[in-house]
Amino acid sequence: MGITFKRRVQKTRLLNPADNFKETMLTVETRWDPLTKRTVRVLDLSIKKFPPWDLKDMLEKGGSGVCPFCPQALEKVTPQFPPDFIPEGRLRFGEVCIFPNRTPFDRHCGVVVFTRQHYVPMTDFSEELLVNAFSAACTFLRRVVEKDPGVRFYSINWNYLPMSGGSIIHPHLQILAGEFPTHYQGKVIQGSRRYQKRWGKIYWNDLIETERKLGERFIAVIGQTVWLASFAPLGIRDISCVIKGRTSLLEVTDRELRDFAQGLLKVFSYFQEFNHNSFNLGLFSGEHKKGDSFWVNARMVTRRLLPPVGASDVSYFEKLHGESVDYKKPEKTCEEIREFF
Ligand SMILES: [Zn+2]
Repeated sequence: MGITFKRRVQKTRLLNPADNFKETMLTVETRWDPLTKRTVRVLDLSIKKFPPWDLKDMLEKGGSGVCPFCPQALEKVTPQFPPDFIPEGRLRFGEVCIFPNRTPFDRHCGVVVFTRQHYVPMTDFSEELLVNAFSAACTFLRRVVEKDPGVRFYSINWNYLPMSGGSIIHPHLQILAGEFPTHYQGKVIQGSRRYQKRWGKIYWNDLIETERKLGERFIAVIGQTVWLASFAPLGIRDISCVIKGRTSLLEVTDRELRDFAQGLLKVFSYFQEFNHNSFNLGLFSGEHKKGDSFWVNARMVTRRLLPPVGASDVSYFEKLHGESVDYKKPEKTCEEIREFF
């Protein structure tokens, strides 16, 4: 089996003002992602949880009166798909509505509005609400590949609340589908292929089995989904979910999306308890019809503003060095989040 969890610790000394300027040793770990080999930094700070953050101001500024996704505005201000692509203009599945993103991040870029309700607190999402939106997104993707044979890569993404980069509070997913993968998706797809070629096995299955044996980052199994604290976090509290045996989002069943939704609800409870008010989520698919080395998987990281001034949790590390930082070891995150599963 070819999974390697490479990590190296460096030590640094300082005279600590909190301890009468006594010499104190601090450590930082560099970890290599076992698939992409991207490096990340893992610190081991003594912060148990971040202090709560008041959302009131943000929720007022982005209230339903200015929201383009609220029922009174949606039909008037959101775009429609051209009739030769989606004759209905917008796709509707109960309360879920899908329309094109006016910011064209990809050849096909769908916005999936979850519900008529403007603001859904993280722990108020229901299994039904989540399944309906993700299932609608998968149905949209099936329509996309039917109409456009040039589409090879797709993913479903979520910025929850403005701290994560989402400009609209009303809960919505963003679907990307086009000819080229994003940088990360490309690396993960290539890495999975390389692994299969070298070891004759599927990386994702080996990852699950290795993590299950080690136990220190293995959170839980829910139906066909496996939940892990990511060894090399892409941000603060990086949680991974693998949907077993599914190479493409087009194959994922509603039963499996239900497993996924059940796990998400548990992650949300953990985030809420630890005052992580916001997150980014990516649900990734293998290359269209060429994904036999890939299993559909999600990664999610928390996002929030940092006290006391509300600083961004993204800095020169992510923006210019292409590295991410977590302040807590994934093994500790795993211990904490297990209580919620
Ligand atoms: Zn709204």
